[in-house]
Order: sequence, then structure tokens, then C-alpha cells
Amino acid sequence: MREFISVEEARSIILEQVTPLPVERVSLAEALGRRLAEAVVSRDDIPPFPNAAMDGYAVRLADVQQVPATLRVVADVGAGQLPPASIPPGACIRIMTGAPVPAWAEAVVPVEWTEAGANGTVRILQAPAAGENIRPAGQDVRAGERFFEVGQRIIPPAVAMLATLGVAEVPVFRRPRVAIVATGDELIDAGQPLTPGHIRDSAGPGLAAQARWLGAEVVRPLRVPDDRAALEQAVEQALEADVLVFSGGVSVGLYDLVRQVLDGRGTQWLFWKIRQRPGKPMAFGLLEGKPVFGLPGNPVSSALCFDQYVAPALRRMQGQQEVLRPRFPAVLEAPTPKKAGLHFYTRGVARPGSDGRLLVRDTGPQGSNLYHSMVRANCLIHLPEALEEAPAGLEVEIEWLPWTLEP
Ligand code: AMP
Ligand code: MG
Repeated sequence: MREFISVEEARSIILEQVTPLPVERVSLAEALGRRLAEAVVSRDDIPPFPNAAMDGYAVRLADVQQVPATLRVVADVGAGQLPPASIPPGACIRIMTGAPVPAWAEAVVPVEWTEAGANGTVRILQAPAAGENIRPAGQDVRAGERFFEVGQRIIPPAVAMLATLGVAEVPVFRRPRVAIVATGDELIDAGQPLTPGHIRDSAGPGLAAQARWLGAEVVRPLRVPDDRAALEQAVEQALEADVLVFSGGVSVGLYDLVRQVLDGRGTQWLFWKIRQRPGKPMAFGLLEGKPVFGLPGNPVSSALCFDQYVAPALRRMQGQQEVLRPRFPAVLEAPTPKKAGLHFYTRGVARPGSDGRLLVRDTGPQGSNLYHSMVRANCLIHLPEALEEAPAGLEVEIEWLPWTLEP
């Protein structure tokens, strides 16, 4: 087992251990937010047939070379109807947006370029160019074209596209099932009144919410006291899941039993402790081949560790290709505490400055027990390990917190 490793090493050790989950098929209506497990090749041209881009008249160019021209209107064709396969010279059809354009038609003259004539005729006032207002078959997608790659996130426009491509049953990666186990003798339910020495379990509900935010299924939110037998039982229950997340009890305190109990059950630990703040005493290992995360109990630390280490694993399991969020340059508006030797994930508020660059400041005191530092943040400020201090004006990298921009 590695000890006290860098943030980059921690992430790569974790990501080496996870692969996308098996494929399942869900209805298009249920596919939102999932990721495609198979590439999608279009069977058809899209649009499937040439069609009118405007309400107007489908004409042959020869009949409208001299304008104004008076043409006989021999049919009305709406979307969903079929046009006549041929018409006599000097005739045209009235056609609506989306209706099939017949092979003989060379342009669609918009209604705005015409006036009604006598006895079922129309006067064409302006000559169209060849192909004008005709949307050709395959203009958007060609039959045989590979439109979606594996890992494509099914965002609302992708739902529309899959419907167009006739994909009613969507192959997606299965959602990871995550067990969240909050540990600590001091923890009580959110619904209970405070009693001396107790605090409400916040890390448990917070971690479960983060897991759901990422599309995972939380199988069992469990809360257990610092008691060996209770923890042993919780581990067995948690093994129903694909990923096991423990909060609290991973440090070196007298009652920190999580690592011991997991050891006893045969967990193969891959690392303990990361050179970071917050969240230094984090552990990661495998139990029955499943990733096990031992996160610190402080709610800010556990939230941060989940965001930086559990979330990328859950993304990969769901088929996401790029599992790390992009980072953006920003300028520190005010000094913020930093010391060398630890990567600081300082919670911040970023905003565009007058010169177009992002400005960022911290959310105030950054203690790992201080909820406000996380709740008020819209981004994380990365202050790398080697950096000794973080004065105003320093160029830093930020990453937006996932809930900042959504939905
Ligand atoms: P631990 O990691 O168990 O040593 O806990 C570190 C700190 O986080 C202690 O102050 C705990 O009371 C607190 N803590 C642990 N678990 C939770 C939880 N689920 N919700 C809120 N605070 C917690
Ligand atoms: Mg504890």
C-alpha cells in the first residue's frame, strides 16, 4: 500500500481500477443523462426525402424564367402527404413546409413572392434559383454515417436525434450502485432534535446526493456507530453495491475502526492519505474487486474527496471518456492561505472580471468542518503542492463545481 501520495497519483490509482459497467437497454424516455454504450450508425438519410423549406409553390424553372408568370395550381400538398409524380407544363403545386418535393420540381417559390390569380392560378412575382427552398435528402445525416460514438452523453438534443435515427431502445452503461456508509457514535438523523454530544449526520445525505447527481443509484444509505460488529454487518450489506463509500472513522483516532474492519474482511488497500487539504486521511482499496473509498468524516472533506476521487470513478463506470473536469485560468482577487507540501482545494467564488479574465476569491475560512466554505462556493481553486503562498494577483486554475451550471 502506498502512503501519503500526490493528488495525481491518487486519481490514477483509482482510475486504473474501474471500467465501464455492463450494457443495458432502456427506452428513449429513460435514457436522459445516461451514456451510449454502442456507437449509433444512421440507417437512413436525414431528412429521408427532399422536402419544402417554406410554404409556397413547387415549380419547374422553365415555367418561371419570365416573371411575373401565371401558373395553374393542380394540387395542394401538406406535410405527410404525397405530391403528384408529374404535372403538365405551365402548372405547379401548392406545397407546405416539410411536404415531400417531387422529382420534377426544381424550386419552391415562397408564398411571399406570389399573389393569388384567377381560376385556380397563382402569379409568381420573383424567379427562384435552382434548388431554392428545397431541403435535400441526407442534408443533415447520410445513411451509413456514424453519428454518435460510445460514451456520448444523452442530453436533450441527443434524445431528439436518437428519435430521428429510430433508436427507441437505447444501449447505455448500467448505473453504478453505490453504498454510502456514514460512521460515528455522535451521529443522529436530520429529523431528530439535537442532544448533548450529538450532531446530525450530514456527510451521509450529502454524499448520497453527490452520487445521485452523477447518475448513480444509492442502494443503501447506512449509518453505523463506531462499533466493530455493527461495521462488519454494514460492510456485508454494502457489498450489494458496485462501489462502497465509507465516511468517518478512517483516521488514527481511538474509535477509527473502518480501515481495521475492512482489513479484516480482506480489503486490499491501494493507498492511504493524500497530500491534500482538505481530505488528507483518505483511503482507497478493493474488496471482492469492488472499489472501496474510506473518506474522512468532516463533511467538507468527504464532499471534496467524493468530488475529486469517487466522482471520476463513477463517471468512468458509466462510460464517460473524459472523467476529469476541465480547469480554467483565473486570477486571485485576494490572498488566500497556502503552505507548501499539500495540494489545496480551496473553495471559491469565481466571476468574470472587466478584462474578460475570471476573478476568483476564497469563500472565507476553509476549515474542513465549515460547511459554508463549500455551500457558498461555485468553484474549486487548485493550489498545487509546491506552491508556498497564494497572494492576490496570482494566476490559478479553477474548476467549476458540477452543480454551478446545471440544470
Ligand atoms: P472522523 O473522520 O470520524 O474522525 O470524523 C471527523 C469529524 O467529522 C468529526 O468532527 C465528526 O464528528 C465529523 N463527522 C463524521 N461523520 C460525520 C457525518 N456523517 N456527518 C457530519 N459530521 C461527521
Ligand atoms: Mg468518527
